[in-house]
Amino acid sequence: MAILTIESTCDETAAAVIGLDGSVLGDALATQTELHEHFRGVVPEVAARAHVERILPVIDTAIRKSGLKPEDLTAIAVAQTPGLAGSLLVGLVAAKTLAVAWEKPLIAINHLYAHIYACQLASEQSIYPCIGLVVSGGHTSLYDCQGPLDLTYLGGTIDDAAGEAFDKVAAMLGLDFPGGPAVSRAAASGDPKKFRFPRSMLNKPGFDFSFSGLKTAVRYELVGPGEKDFSQLNLSEQEIADICASFQQAVIDVLVAKSRRAIRESQAKRLCVGGGVAANRILRAALQQAADEDGFELQIAPPELCTDNAVMGAIALEKLARKEFAPLDIDIQPGLQRGR
Ligand code: ATP
Ligand code: MG
Ligand code: FE
Repeated sequence: MAILTIESTCDETAAAVIGLDGSVLGDALATQTELHEHFRGVVPEVAARAHVERILPVIDTAIRKSGLKPEDLTAIAVAQTPGLAGSLLVGLVAAKTLAVAWEKPLIAINHLYAHIYACQLASEQSIYPCIGLVVSGGHTSLYDCQGPLDLTYLGGTIDDAAGEAFDKVAAMLGLDFPGGPAVSRAAASGDPKKFRFPRSMLNKPGFDFSFSGLKTAVRYELVGPGEKDFSQLNLSEQEIADICASFQQAVIDVLVAKSRRAIRESQAKRLCVGGGVAANRILRAALQQAADEDGFELQIAPPELCTDNAVMGAIALEKLARKEFAPLDIDIQPGLQRGR
């Protein structure tokens, strides 16, 4: 017996069949990068339409790979919050339809909780309780996680998410989309100390983040205030590398400092990190160094489970165990209440 998990919160269409013991029996993922790269950002209408075209083949592939039949499934799970409205809707309608047609219960997944749960998939022991950090394209949030489904929001970004800042800086510099991997590739040959970009809110108590000032600081390094044309920059490869490295270091310094503080103030023993930005190798190394210095345990989601995927939907098994099913009239919830 197994569950089917469906993920369509942003621009990845994904499905997985996961055994009740947590083993991945089959998975499939269709990325939309090629549809959005021209715009250097995800276009919601384009994303929703692409999900419509891809969702059934993706589900079909995941089930075929598993060798199971629909009647072997115990439940249908779907990421229902948070995300782009049109994107979420496609996944939820598909899940509801299959739940009705195959007479299976429906499980609603919180996509951010799933990003943290991705750490569980690489760990033999329970990762809970822990401090959870989600660093992704739409969120930068710290949680006190008592269990996989029992999270207390500690703080988060008050403006841009960390991944969003990577994407916007990449766009200014004319680098590829998505910006995170492109900026980190360019940063590899740059000097992180060349530019002194701001580390916002480091000295404020609490666990909120702000990355919009950092983004603006990079912008002013490139063009004057009010100037919108980035096409005539004529930067050398080394200048681009130095800006990327200095920007990346500013993001990392803040993420590491706030995570450390969360661990210290809550006296937690473990930090678990998920979301697309957690794939960043320099961030992973900096978090590991902080963990070694401060003596806490660190779990970071495996790189392939940092960006959106349906495998982390295994968190639905926790809801299945509690028989926490969603009613068939459940709606999407694009925004969390105040980011929580
Ligand atoms: P959310 O999970 O908040 O709804 P999302 O699902 O769009 O947002 P993810 O798929 O988790 O976000 O992550 C995508 C983000 O991760 C993008 O902003 C991308 O630039 C960033 N990212 C991916 N790889 C890296 C990397 N190596 N370094 C920095 N950022 C990265
Ligand atoms: Mg994506
Ligand atoms: Fe995500």
